[in-house]
Amino acid sequence: STESNPIRATLFPGDGIGPEIAESVKQVFSAADVPIEWEEHYVGKEIDPRTQSFLTWESLESVRRNKVGLKGPMATPIGKGHRSLNLTLRKELNLYANVRPCYSLPGYKTRYDDVDLVTIRENTEGEYSGLEHQVVRGVVESLKIITRQASLRVAEYAFHYATAHGRERVSAIHKANIMQKTDGLFLKCCREVAEKFPEIRYEEVVIDNCCMMLVKNPALFDVLVMPNLYGDIISDLCAGLIGGLGLTPSCNIGEGGIALAEAVHGSAPDIAGKNMANPTALLLSAVTMLRHLELHDKADRIQEAILKTIAEGKYRTGDLGGTSTTTEFTKAICDKL
Ligand code: NAD
Repeated sequence: STESNPIRATLFPGDGIGPEIAESVKQVFSAADVPIEWEEHYVGKEIDPRTQSFLTWESLESVRRNKVGLKGPMATPIGKGHRSLNLTLRKELNLYANVRPCYSLPGYKTRYDDVDLVTIRENTEGEYSGLEHQVVRGVVESLKIITRQASLRVAEYAFHYATAHGRERVSAIHKANIMQKTDGLFLKCCREVAEKFPEIRYEEVVIDNCCMMLVKNPALFDVLVMPNLYGDIISDLCAGLIGGLGLTPSCNIGEGGIALAEAVHGSAPDIAGKNMANPTALLLSAVTMLRHLELHDKADRIQEAILKTIAEGKYRTGDLGGTSTTTEFTKAICDKL
């Protein structure tokens, strides 16, 4: 595509710090002349009966049509009795895999050097199926759903990803010793897929042991694939290894080639509206979106400008120990471009 014929992509600025960091992405994209035209969609104020959520049917249609998008964090009020916006997006758009690369940023020192992991999280079922109810007063029940279809689909994705990205090993993370039926089925599916990829080493690691190993020596892992809840927790743990939630991007992969990139972090209500948020996680998520669109030149240039700005250390946001505002940090990146 060319400038005269831009690619349309959906943008959900989201809640809390979302609009501030989405603004940062728009500025950086315009400084790098990225040929993308954003279709902006906000979370509605009322429940749309067609989606049973504050996300409108039009905004879901926008992603289905464009097949590519970027989303800011969306807040989920606890116990308000409607579907979580993130769950709605994942279910309605069949976003079955969440890919979270996590690597040490050159020039930003943490306790660990050379972290280079990718967490691939099953995104549609497990404990997050939204099937909770009260059995009798004082007793509630939550159903953990694991299906052969969803497990095979995410395992296939993990092995394809490993192959396409020159990775050597896939570790399936589980607790099948206790959850024999559910995690047992997940593992069985991973094993079946592993047999089709003899060039990739395959191993199975129990989740608690995995946490211990990650904290002791993250270099023990390469690509990790796991059910929903474990993926949620492990990917935050991984973010902590390289400097926190302000830095880690992700991309949701859906049926029919949909890619919806998003930061791993939430809406950060404690710092919202204060021009303090680190836009790096959303910017790097936007970079994964560009790679999905095969706009590698633009992706490389933007990624380099972000990493250089952080490495130089003159402009860093508070979460990285600096004093720059979101806008100052963004401007420093744009100046490099
Ligand atoms: P959070 O990720 O919003 O915040 C955790 C901590 O990290 C806070 O101290 C916050 O200030 C900090 N932080 C997060 N992102 C940052 C950034 N870019 N720059 C600097 N600091 C950053 O987690 P939470 O407080 O548990 O959740 C807040 C809301 O976000 C909740 O409503 C939750 O449901 C929602 N949430 C949404 C998503 C999503 O949309 N994918 C993910 C997680 C949480």
